[in-house]
Amino acid sequence: MAKKEYGFATKQIHVGKHKESNGALTTPIYQTSTFEFDSVEQGAARFAGQENGYIYTRLGNPSVTQVEEKVAALEGGEAAMGTAAGMGAISSTLWTCLKAGDEVVASDTLYGCTFALLNTDIQEFGVKVNFVDMGDPENVRKALTDKTAVVYFETPCNPTLKVIDIEAVAKLAHDFNPAIKVIVDNTFNSPYIQNPLKWGADIVVHSATKYINGHGDVIAGFVISDAEFIQNLKMTGLKNMTGAVMSPFDAFLIARGLKTLDIRMQRHSANAMKVAEFLHDHPAVEKVYYPGLPDFEGHEIAAKQMERGFGGMMSIELKASREEVAAALNKLQLCTLAVSLGDAETLIEHPASMTHSTYTKEELEASGISEGLVRISVGLEDPEDVIDDLKTVLDTLV
Ligand SMILES: *Cc1c(COP(=O)(O)O)cnc(C)c1O
Repeated sequence: MAKKEYGFATKQIHVGKHKESNGALTTPIYQTSTFEFDSVEQGAARFAGQENGYIYTRLGNPSVTQVEEKVAALEGGEAAMGTAAGMGAISSTLWTCLKAGDEVVASDTLYGCTFALLNTDIQEFGVKVNFVDMGDPENVRKALTDKTAVVYFETPCNPTLKVIDIEAVAKLAHDFNPAIKVIVDNTFNSPYIQNPLKWGADIVVHSATKYINGHGDVIAGFVISDAEFIQNLKMTGLKNMTGAVMSPFDAFLIARGLKTLDIRMQRHSANAMKVAEFLHDHPAVEKVYYPGLPDFEGHEIAAKQMERGFGGMMSIELKASREEVAAALNKLQLCTLAVSLGDAETLIEHPASMTHSTYTKEELEASGISEGLVRISVGLEDPEDVIDDLKTVLDTLV
């Protein structure tokens, strides 16, 4: 693409596109494990990093490069790395940043598998993790030590939508020690809604399974950062430690999904706002957790850092027991009972039974995840139809 700085929509369509030898409009699926060298000398030069060019798909593939360049541009980072899953992005990044003896300060409310990785798995390798409520950045300051190598969080948090001030947390971590890597999982927003690097984060991770692909047919992830970190990630965490590389076919589907990212996110945000306003006034609903509602605790910080809308994710607290909630959700006709999020279909799940079942009862309570909490990923259907379905089900609880 030419040097001119294009707008978001133009970038999501055009960045990463290189002229194909047969004139193909879309980047083909380079379904190949390895790449042919013209000579031994050329192979040697590629391995030595003296000549650009592909070697082996675990180290790079043109279909994957295309979407890496797109997502780096959309997040405002120098470079990006595609991965086989969001968890591949998260684990490869943590393996690259950490060694035995290091400490992590992590948010106490996280995606279930990220929590399991930080709470148990990674600690078996001699990494200590301190979980704090980052809703108050002061708690991060208190947890920092000279061994802290990583500060890790999501905002809005999954599933309580708690908003964390990226700028405040990044500043106090870097004032304490500029070498600390501040990592933000930006899955709930996609690069359209929020760009954490702009607010001082060092690394952004995504589950591209969600909004980035947006069509519910891929498991994939991305890491976005400066070129030096991405090179390091490519040559250690990803190449040697996890091997969690993105497949060329998934990259093709992601390139297809990305062409409409801005339009989808605008509609997700608009639909979610309508659904949130309906739920806000329904008698079966104790509380609506949606950053777009003016009376939500994190609304002001969300309005600052979620620059292009409040997204499609929300949770509701129902005035009902676990059994009553289950019986009500089983009556849904249009909304789909499923985990995952960011798809065209409205997806509804019960965190205490599903995504956050890795938390103990005490951990659930500490993170504010009650048995009456229901998470909704508002899709792209007509919002009136989603509201009608929710109304029928919620009316059974009053
Ligand atoms: C889904 C999700 C992940 C994990 O991504 P996978 O693609 O399922 O591996 C990580 N973080 C958040 C916030 C998620 O929603």
